[in-house]
Amino acid sequence: MAGKEDERWQDTGRELVRIREGGKKIPDEWLEKEGLLYYKNRLYIPENESLQTQIAQGCHNSIIAGHFGQEKTIERVTRDFYKKELAEWIRDHVRSCDECQHTKSPRHAKYKLLQPLEVLYATWSSILTDLIRQLPESQGKTQIMVIVDGFTKMAHFIGLHENATAKDVTDIFLREVWILHGLLTEIISDMDAKFSGEFWESLCKMLGVKRRMSTAFHPQTDRQMEKNQPSAGRLLTNICQLRSEQLVPTITVSRTRL
Ligand SMILES: [Zn+2]
Repeated sequence: MAGKEDERWQDTGRELVRIREGGKKIPDEWLEKEGLLYYKNRLYIPENESLQTQIAQGCHNSIIAGHFGQEKTIERVTRDFYKKELAEWIRDHVRSCDECQHTKSPRHAKYKLLQPLEVLYATWSSILTDLIRQLPESQGKTQIMVIVDGFTKMAHFIGLHENATAKDVTDIFLREVWILHGLLTEIISDMDAKFSGEFWESLCKMLGVKRRMSTAFHPQTDRQMEKNQPSAGRLLTNICQLRSEQLVPTITVSRTRL
């Protein structure tokens, strides 16, 4: 067991057992269960290189983890795991990741004047959407519709056929997104004008939502997508390295927070 190599981890475990056997109450934030230690409901990871590498790779290098940046990876690891100097350990891991070095992209949007939209207070009330085209064909699909919730930043990726019509996109959108989240009040789009015009026409008619088209001259309306493009791009770069028959199944399970 990995914990046997870590004195500090063992001392903590022994102390918790001592407290429990002395009939005292273990502090609320700690839990010792079946030889594992938990701190604030997160698994306490002992100092063990191979175990730590497995965890870091699962939260950063895997296809679905998507090689996100240092802070996002720290946030992910922290949800389930605890260890001393956790942030520094993850920063080192991300910094030394070979694949990240090769797919590096600027982590900031183009500098521009700040023109915020109204603050959002509800999930899936305002969404942002874009199409990523000309991907390797998988199950006949060559494009991905990216839909991001402006409030939670959760994203859906939906595979589309090369010649999907606006009506197809509307049907898929209703089935995959609207049915799950409902109560949509605003859609902000970066899709091309002709296509999105037809898409919005049928969708807005069916849902009674207001429209706000994003154009190159209205950068304030694409704040979230702009911010998320490096993340979405990186995730997709990794997904596209899969064999083509794996592409669509993988994309369809990639409902993630960007
Ligand atoms: Zn990486």
